[in-house]
Amino acid sequence: MDFDLQWLLIGLPIAFAFGWIASRIDIGQWKRAQREAPKAYFQGLNLLLNEQHDKAIDAFIEAVQRDPDTADLHFALGNLFRRRGEFERAVRVHQHLLQRADLGAADRARAQHALAQDFVKAGLLDRAEEAYRELEGTDFDIESRLARLSLAERARDWRTAADVAAKLEASGTGSYATRIAHHWCELSLQAHDAGDETAATDALRRAREAAPHAPRPLIVAARMASRKGDAVVAFALYSELLQHAPALLPLVASDYATVAINSGQTDAARATVQRRLQEQPSVDLLHAMRLLDGALPAQTDVPDASERAQSLLHAQPTLSAALAVLDAPLDAHDEHALRDVREAVARAARPLQRYRCAACGFEAPQHFWQCPGCLGWDTFPAQRIEEL
Ligand SMILES: [Zn+2]
Repeated sequence: MDFDLQWLLIGLPIAFAFGWIASRIDIGQWKRAQREAPKAYFQGLNLLLNEQHDKAIDAFIEAVQRDPDTADLHFALGNLFRRRGEFERAVRVHQHLLQRADLGAADRARAQHALAQDFVKAGLLDRAEEAYRELEGTDFDIESRLARLSLAERARDWRTAADVAAKLEASGTGSYATRIAHHWCELSLQAHDAGDETAATDALRRAREAAPHAPRPLIVAARMASRKGDAVVAFALYSELLQHAPALLPLVASDYATVAINSGQTDAARATVQRRLQEQPSVDLLHAMRLLDGALPAQTDVPDASERAQSLLHAQPTLSAALAVLDAPLDAHDEHALRDVREAVARAARPLQRYRCAACGFEAPQHFWQCPGCLGWDTFPAQRIEEL
């Protein structure tokens, strides 16, 4: 008897305590919450897959409210906002994530990266650059440097671009040599425009060091020498350029001809331009050849301007060559030349003699009552493109 009473005295408070605890924890409600968070999540996912982004956002917001600790839901929501062009909300979601003390290093970098992308999309390039800079040393290191390089190039901040590209090159992610050479060329031209010739020369030297055979630093250096009246140096630089990139001659042809004449290299230049004209007919080479012809002694036997223009037109029936023939003295206008001019004009006119659908832009050599592109009726005007 004593024994039972003792147990009753001890057991009663324990039973009360359990009852109290049980009343505080509503098992059913707890289970429901656990079930509902994933339900809203899957609902959002389903809507996403059906391209119903507005409803997906609502579902995700609901899921995030129910379960504010889930980082993945925040990422999904932030990316959705960004993709829909709601950059302010995307920024807020990602900043909110970054403020959380319990976020791991990997998720923190991921949120920082997402934030940088938000800023790029929103056109806040300064803040994007800042956000990307914070990613140095994380898993997004290379990605953030590449993004910073393209941001710097977009902002025409060539100094930063050169620095970032040099670091990328040092990290072994590929060759950035010609790109760095372009950055220094831009800096050199900027310095020249500002009247700082020392800085211009220095930047150009760095461009040539970065990529010794890249064409642009050679061209910029040759033009600089030519401007200073140093024709010998300029001709040597152009000759070096043509060794590595002969196809670029049309770009520099007239300056090349001028410095050749001024440095006593007319014959060598004529041979080079003549060879190039045969391989790569071009009106720019034709003009350079005329300059070089004009520098020869008067009695020298060279083709006249009209003959040169006609042979160019024959090799390459372009409108520019036809124009050169029409611009040359007319006495030599034989039948061949006229036939070539006609051919060049006909070739150039062909794309303009088509009909174009007013609804979809579909082009065809003949008129259609029903457009084969958009299947619209009566969408082709009665006039050809050229006459519109
Ligand atoms: Zn159409």
